[in-house]
Amino acid sequence: MSSALQRFIKPNIRALSAYDPGTINCKIKLDANESPYGFKIPQELLSIETNRYPDSKAQGLREFLSASLDVLPSELLFGNGSDELIYSLITTVGGTVLSPTPTFSMYSIISRTLDQQIKTVPLDNTFDLDIDLMLRTVQDNDIKLIFLSSPNNPTGNSFDRKKILTLIEKTDAIVIVDEAYQQFSDIESFIPLVKKYERLVVFRTLSKIGLAALRIGFMIASPELINEVNKVRLPFNINSLSQDLALRILKDDVTMNSNISEIKINRENLFSGLLKIKGVKPYPSDANFILFKVDNAEMIYKKLIENDILVRNLNSHIEGCLRVTVGTRYEMDVFLEVLNKILIKE
Ligand code: PMP
Repeated sequence: MSSALQRFIKPNIRALSAYDPGTINCKIKLDANESPYGFKIPQELLSIETNRYPDSKAQGLREFLSASLDVLPSELLFGNGSDELIYSLITTVGGTVLSPTPTFSMYSIISRTLDQQIKTVPLDNTFDLDIDLMLRTVQDNDIKLIFLSSPNNPTGNSFDRKKILTLIEKTDAIVIVDEAYQQFSDIESFIPLVKKYERLVVFRTLSKIGLAALRIGFMIASPELINEVNKVRLPFNINSLSQDLALRILKDDVTMNSNISEIKINRENLFSGLLKIKGVKPYPSDANFILFKVDNAEMIYKKLIENDILVRNLNSHIEGCLRVTVGTRYEMDVFLEVLNKILIKE
């Protein structure tokens, strides 16, 4: 960009770099926590009227999810992925944001984009919330929003439920429990508690259960808060194809549930496979990925790519750590075999 243009750009935007998902073409793609199981697009979708705007309220999806999650239609708001909901919520509320670290990077990136301060508190040595430090940080910084990814990306563990409740009860902040990976865990959802706590917001996404291409996330919160956030939502943020396809696929919960069960089985096999490889320390996971520690993360990351396998390199965030998404049985077997070979040769 020419330097003459730079003066027009807000300083907080100038200081940012565009988000780069870091995707490299590899046959076995295990870097983005996607599901290995996609869905066929039915012929009926061809009847969509391309000249008409989508249903701004996503009424079909709203009614379906309201019934299946036992929430009111007015307690739901849809986003173009839950990324967009982070954006909408910070835009609506403003003020200083708190999140633990390491966690999902978009909480911090979007806060900075919107010129809001972000405070981070390191997780403890079991990757759980350091509740005392978090409470102190909330007090000292007039925190308005607390983002908690539980299960947490990239560590994979769920946070202690009591600690999350303490944050809701002992602060005046809005607490977002981002349940992007909740379906892969056996822990209880926070959705039923939305009726009890007006400052609790739960995020969900369809991206991890085989529908990442559709870009649909939703938040569950009190109708009053939904009403406010809805004012900043762009009018037609969920396109017609995504609404229609998501609804058809969600209605077939047998396939969806069996895919999720399969991923959970593959995760357990992957975990025990990783445990058996000398020099690898996997961390237990409630999500569709596993974080693992090795002695030479950069070298192993590159060697995996040479073998056509892409994982996420987290070495600069958590020393020595890589994150592998749970794929098919075949993908997991190949991954474990290649990783084993790399470590034997090292
Ligand atoms: N929350 C968490 C914790 C995530 O890991 C991700 C995706 N990596 C998202 C939200 C974003 O999901 P979506 O595709 O719905 O924007």
